[in-house]
This record gives sequence, C-alpha cells and structure tokens, in this order.
Amino acid sequence: MAKFFGGGDQQIALEGEKQSLKCPLTLEMIQAPVRGTFCTHFQVFCMRSLYLLQGEKGRWMCPICQKKVFHPIMDMWVYELTSQSSNTEEDEM
Ligand SMILES: [Zn+2]
Repeated sequence: MAKFFGGGDQQIALEGEKQSLKCPLTLEMIQAPVRGTFCTHFQVFCMRSLYLLQGEKGRWMCPICQKKVFHPIMDMWVYELTSQSSNTEEDEM
C-alpha cells in the first residue's frame, strides 16, 4: 500500500477519472475530503480549506464545479486513503 503512494504525484485512477489526494484549493493533502450536496464529480476538496478561504458565512461554493455547498458530504473512502497515505510520509507538523 505504501508503495502505491510512493510516486511524486499522489493520484489514483478510478474508472478513468483521476482523484487527487491534494486539495484543489491549497494543493496540500486533503484532511477532510468532502463534496457539496450537488456535486457530481469524483474529485473531492478539503473542507478545512473551504472553511479557511470562504469563511464562516456558510455560503460555500464548490471550487471544482462552482455549485453551492449546502451540506458538505464526507467521502470516507478518500478519507481512508489520505489517512493511510499520510502515515507513510513524514509528518511536517
Ligand atoms: Zn462540486
């Protein structure tokens, strides 16, 4: 599993669509992978980044498809991947 994530670009392919484990907003590893209520894409973004960049106002917009994010939906599958991935890398915190 660790070897799988050993490449420079942390991407996994699923059904032809690429899923990056890096947040499209901050280009950092996603800590809380979410999609918006109306998102139809596979790519997730980081809830934390959205909160930091778009604030507390609660009218978040998906950085990928620009649709409104009413209730961010956590992707547990990606979450598992990111937690496994971060275990294989040095934590810079
Ligand atoms: Zn979206």
